[in-house]
Amino acid sequence: MIPAHLNFAHLKRCVSILTVLEAKGVTTPLTKRGDQLFGPCPLHGGDNPNAFVISLSKNLWRCFTGCDAGGDVVELVRRLYGKNYRQTAAFLATLAATEPTSQTASSLQPLKKSFRPFTARLHLNASVPWLRQKRITPTTARRFEVGAYQGGGFLKECIAVRLHDLDGHPIGYAGRCLDPQKAKQCGKWKFPPRLPKNEILYNFHRIESCHRNGLVVVECPWGVMRLAQLNIPAVALLGIHLSAVQNDLLKKVSPVVLMLDGDRAGQEATVRIRSALEPYTKVYTITLPSGLDPDDLSDEALSSVTRHFLF
Ligand SMILES: [Zn+2]
Repeated sequence: MIPAHLNFAHLKRCVSILTVLEAKGVTTPLTKRGDQLFGPCPLHGGDNPNAFVISLSKNLWRCFTGCDAGGDVVELVRRLYGKNYRQTAAFLATLAATEPTSQTASSLQPLKKSFRPFTARLHLNASVPWLRQKRITPTTARRFEVGAYQGGGFLKECIAVRLHDLDGHPIGYAGRCLDPQKAKQCGKWKFPPRLPKNEILYNFHRIESCHRNGLVVVECPWGVMRLAQLNIPAVALLGIHLSAVQNDLLKKVSPVVLMLDGDRAGQEATVRIRSALEPYTKVYTITLPSGLDPDDLSDEALSSVTRHFLF
């Protein structure tokens, strides 16, 4: 009898072939063509670079030479380690439990020492016109801990957005400046001093760990919140740069649907990020009309441009 928490269907969904190979210490670079990855076979060895084929979307593998065999992650673990089904289930459960969120998170450097997380919760007003204009409901704003801040300090006259580390611990607030004059001078967004922005992928901790069905990637938290209202999973880069940490997290997601802002910077970033992720995973890009951000779209438009890539 296999215990209920060692459900094979669940494990097959949660653990990717790539994760199993990584766990085994296989580091041979794989070549990506379409939805498939090619490389030498980790089972029978050899150096034929086309022997072993992985289907990313199906999470299946096959060796066309030597082994002439194939299957899913269960079959791969059984063959790589010579484990029986029960042992295989237990092994996959360990990988599933630590992957992808916590495995990557635990292997990361702790947030930079000079940065002191601010863990207190601020009083924010979720029912403000600015959020209404963005079509973010008070319920969503409260869920995402977002709202107008009435106090002083660097969040003065800002819509504050609570930030979390990859494990979901609150680390402070970012502020979207509402004073157009100031926003022009110092930028729309304000971040706490020394915040290691590169080590954050906004909203990643709220996405359930088995998010292999894909994610939408946007620049700003507003896009994430709008998509969340439509039950579409999304994360935000908090800018247009893909950090090493963000790259590590996103390359394990398939597919990644890039929907950056429609301005020139966003479109250039789309090309850059696409080529960084494409060797590892399936990437779709959505090009918005110039000047439009994801949160400018109607619910219908947001839903129709993203949904068919994900479901
Ligand atoms: Zn083989």
